[in-house]
This record gives sequence, C-alpha cells and structure tokens, in this order.
Amino acid sequence: LHERQMKARIAGISVEKALRYCFAALFSAAAFCASAADQSQPIPGFTDTPFLPGNKWRVHDPARPQPPVVAPGTASSQERPGRPPSDAIVLFDGTDLSQWRDRDGRTPPWRVENGELTVGKGTIYSRQEFGDVQLHVEFCTPTDVGTNTSQARGNSGVFLMDRYEFQILDSYENPTYADGMVGAIYGQYPPLVNAARPPGEWQTYDIVFIAPRFEDGKLKSPAYATVFLNGVLVQHHAEILGSTQHRRLASYTPHPPTGPISLQDHGTPNRFRNIWVRPLKLEE
Ligand code: MG
Repeated sequence: LHERQMKARIAGISVEKALRYCFAALFSAAAFCASAADQSQPIPGFTDTPFLPGNKWRVHDPARPQPPVVAPGTASSQERPGRPPSDAIVLFDGTDLSQWRDRDGRTPPWRVENGELTVGKGTIYSRQEFGDVQLHVEFCTPTDVGTNTSQARGNSGVFLMDRYEFQILDSYENPTYADGMVGAIYGQYPPLVNAARPPGEWQTYDIVFIAPRFEDGKLKSPAYATVFLNGVLVQHHAEILGSTQHRRLASYTPHPPTGPISLQDHGTPNRFRNIWVRPLKLEE
C-alpha cells in the first residue's frame, strides 16, 4: 500500500478506537461522543494532489469544509404523506394555514380537512419569501371531471416569486396545448414526458428553482428550473424566459431577490398536502 493510504487507514482505525472508548465511558451519550470524535480527529484526505480548476481546493482536500448534516425524510404513499428532510421549512403539514396569506395578508379562505388543503377563493401566498429553492408539493385533482376538458380540468399551479408558473392540470387523457400540461413551465416549455397520474391520485412536484439575478435594473442571469413530476424528470435546467403569460410572450421585469411561493385558484377544488421548501445556498 501507498504510505498515505496506510496513514489514512491508520487514522480510520484510531477514529474507531476513540469511538469505542467514548461509548464505553459515556454509554448514555453516544450521539454526543460521535460528534465530539468527529471534531477532534483529523479529516482523512490528501495534500499532495492537484488543485481543482477555478477554486482553492485540491483533489480530495481534507481542509475542504464538510457539508451540513441533513436527516433525509421519507417518501409519500397514496395513503399518507412522507416526512420532509430535517432542514426543510414546512409550508403545509396537514394542520393549518399559518404559513399562508391571501393577497391582502389575511388568512386565506381555503379549507384544511383530513390533513389536506382544498383550493378556495383566491390564490394563496407563503408568508415567507424565497429565492433559490428546492420545493416539494403534493397535489390531487378531482375525480369528478364532469364535462370539463383541456385547461378547465384540474387547473391550479405553483408560482415561484409570484411570477413563474409550474402548471398543475389533470393531464391524464386530457389533451391541451403542450406548454399548458402538468409539468409545463406555463406558456414556455412542455414537460419532457407526460408522467401524470389519473385524477384522484396524489402526485408529487419536486422543483429546483434558481431565481433570476438583476443588476442595475437589467437581467444579469435568467431563472432556471429542473423539475420532477411523480419522480420523473420533466424539466432539465430549463432557462425561464420571464414572467409566465397567457397567450403572450414571457419577458422579465426586475424584481426583488426573494418572493413568495403561491398556489393558484383556477376555480377547481384541487387538494394539496405535504408542502415543504429548502432554501438553497449556491453561492460562496
Ligand atoms: Mg394554472
């Protein structure tokens, strides 16, 4: 074995030993011991390796900061919503509308029942505002489709920054223009595939949204979105053309670096559950 690999292995063994002693001495505080050992032991790595292009770290650099620890959540089933990751801001957990407001700042007239949120009068807005995010939303469109077709069936939407709509629609055997289906960035990009579930089934939206940047009143970089619908990739790093428009071309108007997340009232009693968001820190 290479000498450095040997050293790394020895370091690994001594971490194990230290942990064992820790557990023996303080058997009631195992979690505390593990984190203390992590901090007192050197991080394994290499200091004779090349520098990565464009930054100050070497390949396998032991000094490179460790990422924050996040306890992952659990997946949802049709019967019950999953659990969000530990660092998520929960916008709706099935209990109340405390994280939401109407356009005028009041509690919105949407119904919370059986852990679900049903669309009522008027679009609703998150009280907190966000820029770059990972967003998880679950929704269900009504089984009673009546004679509704196209955009009149199961229409709602998730808006980022009060401007950029990720369409919600019943797109199960319900043809409409492609850039208006569920999974579409409305009026701009159809989903890569139609991964819609039938009405009455819970569906998941997982959206990675990079907010646009403005400088001196001009667009510096556009918004981007990567989107999974029901776990299937439907948008890949799509360059958003501007605020969502109906029958018009999208364009950008400068706006603040954060804004609310909103859910659209389009006159259909769609239901929502398990809504959470993780603000992203992507810039050093
Ligand atoms: Mg809509």
